[in-house]
Amino acid sequence: MQMLKKGYFGDFGGRFVPELLMPPLIELEEAMDRIMPSPIFKEELGRIMADFVGRPTPLYHCQGLSEMLGRNIWLKREDLAHTGAHKVNNTMGQALLAKHMGKPRLIAETGAGQHGVATATAAAMLGLECVVYMGSIDVKRQSHNVRRMKLLGAEVRPVEAGTKTLKDAINAALRDWIAEQRTTHYCLGSVTGAHPFPLLVRDLQAVIGREAKRQFMEKMGGKLPYMIVACVGGGSNAIGAFHEFVPHKEVRLVGVEAAGTGELGCYHSATLTKGEHGVLHGALTKLLQDKHGQVEPSHSVAAGLDYPGVGPEHAGLQAAGRAEYYCVNDTQALNAFQVLCRTEGIIPALESSHALAWVLDNAESIPRGEHVIINLSGRGDKDLDIIEEVLGI
Ligand SMILES: *Cc1c(COP(=O)(O)O)cnc(C)c1O
Repeated sequence: MQMLKKGYFGDFGGRFVPELLMPPLIELEEAMDRIMPSPIFKEELGRIMADFVGRPTPLYHCQGLSEMLGRNIWLKREDLAHTGAHKVNNTMGQALLAKHMGKPRLIAETGAGQHGVATATAAAMLGLECVVYMGSIDVKRQSHNVRRMKLLGAEVRPVEAGTKTLKDAINAALRDWIAEQRTTHYCLGSVTGAHPFPLLVRDLQAVIGREAKRQFMEKMGGKLPYMIVACVGGGSNAIGAFHEFVPHKEVRLVGVEAAGTGELGCYHSATLTKGEHGVLHGALTKLLQDKHGQVEPSHSVAAGLDYPGVGPEHAGLQAAGRAEYYCVNDTQALNAFQVLCRTEGIIPALESSHALAWVLDNAESIPRGEHVIINLSGRGDKDLDIIEEVLGI
């Protein structure tokens, strides 16, 4: 075990990893400092974001929802980014960094498959080799995304160990990184894990809040919004939406976790609202664990929120009282999903529907006429099988 002082958000974060992982983490940290601020890198990433990803994504004022709630509801449309979600902001940035580091190979692990698809997309676009580790149960459950990854030229390696899900895929990817670190970059999918990943992923996702602030101020004559709301799985779309607003103390930052079925004693993913301090995947953060300190399984109808940990910066923002975190159950999210479809003509991801649900169900706590920006992290096409199963539509 090793630990550094930097990479902390209050008491949370750090680098709790086996000795063998220290060299690639230190190399990555040095590369971030050296390459990412350079004009060449910034110009290249800016061009990719504009012409390939389709940024800036719009900031959309919802007529129907705003009338319904008596509050002004704005959506930051990450669902319109290439591949249909915010994840590509991160994978394109990391893939470009890997290329500048002289690493021709990307590895990633994926549960629901969305991060695997975003990594495979970035690798294809930049001409990098790509291997995605995925628990063999997830390979069966997420056959559409497995096919997408293969079409994009990635190799999907099913992991047969342990529970055959995300946790085991992470272990397999870490072993690969230790063995192949000279040629390989590990493309992590959220603001989780050991330093410097929470910083790296935040810096790449911060484009969401930077754009939203500029767009809102342009439309509203220099004013700031009352509140920013985003769903929290690992926490990358939420940190991306929050980061630019953190210094503006008058803007409320609200993160929404998944309470699962909401029934007592059932599994959920409400790490910040119900979890406790502990170390998961290399960082000190909050996580779901039983009384013996064993990590508990998580659950949510939204596959992207189904993770027992959370990025350490969220735990830090919560402890500092700068951001508020609440949870919303499957039924509330499914209701919000249908409301957005019918009121605004937008089919949202089930993950994003959690953020929406919190606003729909807590509008009374927001002063009338105020302006709320909801980060619509992704589109819902990927969720249609689950929707059919639970709603019969
Ligand atoms: C993966 C995913 C999430 C959850 O990940 P974060 O790191 O918490 O952002 C949220 N929304 C969508 C659409 C996703 O694909």
